[in-house]
Amino acid sequence: MRLLAIILLTLLLLPTTPAAAATNLAVAATPSASYTSPWENVNAINDGVDPPRSNDTANPRWGTWPETGTHWAELTWPTAQTLTSAEVYFFDDGGGVRLPASWKLQRWSGGTYIDIPGTYPTAADTYNRVTFPEISTVRLRVVLQSGAASVGLLEIKAYGESGTPAPWNPPAHLVTPLNEVWQHVESTYPNLYGFRNYGWDQVMANGGSINYCVRWDSNATVTAAQRDRIHATLARQFKKWTDLMIGQEGWPYTDVPVKVVGWAVRDRNQLQWTDDSVDIYVGDIRENAPQCAPACGRFFNQNGTYPNCPGGAARHYDMSLWLTAGMGGGAGGDWGQRLGSEYYLANLDADNMHILLHEIGHSFGLDDFYDWTPSGVCCFLMKAGSASSITEFDAWMFRDWWRHLKSRYGL
Ligand SMILES: [Zn+2]
Repeated sequence: MRLLAIILLTLLLLPTTPAAAATNLAVAATPSASYTSPWENVNAINDGVDPPRSNDTANPRWGTWPETGTHWAELTWPTAQTLTSAEVYFFDDGGGVRLPASWKLQRWSGGTYIDIPGTYPTAADTYNRVTFPEISTVRLRVVLQSGAASVGLLEIKAYGESGTPAPWNPPAHLVTPLNEVWQHVESTYPNLYGFRNYGWDQVMANGGSINYCVRWDSNATVTAAQRDRIHATLARQFKKWTDLMIGQEGWPYTDVPVKVVGWAVRDRNQLQWTDDSVDIYVGDIRENAPQCAPACGRFFNQNGTYPNCPGGAARHYDMSLWLTAGMGGGAGGDWGQRLGSEYYLANLDADNMHILLHEIGHSFGLDDFYDWTPSGVCCFLMKAGSASSITEFDAWMFRDWWRHLKSRYGL
């Protein structure tokens, strides 16, 4: 079953696909900065959004107003990256934040930062590209010297030896059915490319992880051990999908951790733990079921900022795992997955919890197949009742979604 709420955003600027299919390694890094104005967001620098102009009023930005002098923003990767070029897009609002007087890149080596030689342009309204001899580093720092005012950045991209990405190469017998599926998706969902809250968007917004809140739609009690097993099962099933993407079509992650940040419940006494490892929401009822705070939910805050979430952005949730007593079947969408609480608890050790897997598929855009079947394939998870695990065809449909959406991340 599919319940995908389509929310129209005001404006969508789809970046053009780069001619050379080089992978932007920046999106897999963790951003930080010497200073960030409280109303700006350092996560802007590698969120993959191509700015429309230096005076960007629509997307997140990193800026240092009112600070001036030397400031830096930096990308940190979990492992060393081989880089041969980078480009930055300056933030310039014509007032308190202007183009820098000068800037440079630095790499981290031997416990210190070393300047990267190159030619450093300072143009507004475009990417400023620098190429350099191949380096290997876990940190890339952009050092800005302020000029007329404070400084800021809208985006940093970093590229390696443009290793030719593996070409799109599904098994020959799946090419025709995959094309049929995509044509069907495009004709069924006119706002397909405008919608910005697929599981893909959520993972990319977090830099390679996903946050969940559990809606405990039952009067049963839950022990700490059950809580942890519910989380572990969710993580294990989610990973069955995301592992399919490793090394595929510029996908930047090798692991997509699942964090459960909250639980929503009718009565606090149902939850038999006292630790504060998750946020607990009591008595906020929507759709006749407990829900986690809307201020912390991605569904309600699709610009990716959570100013009113008590725990801040770190405790936001992208999806809900909604477990309803007495429910058969399931539902899935950009908001998460819903299924029976008894079914979930009875299948904690199952290798494949097929209803959950199917509904996670919906959260990443995959469709149902109630009324048609693609040519030459009989049985697969997204055709309900015909398979109980992710098949090769499901895997290639999943990758095909990313292939069609990845250009929005400059990939
Ligand atoms: Zn379905």
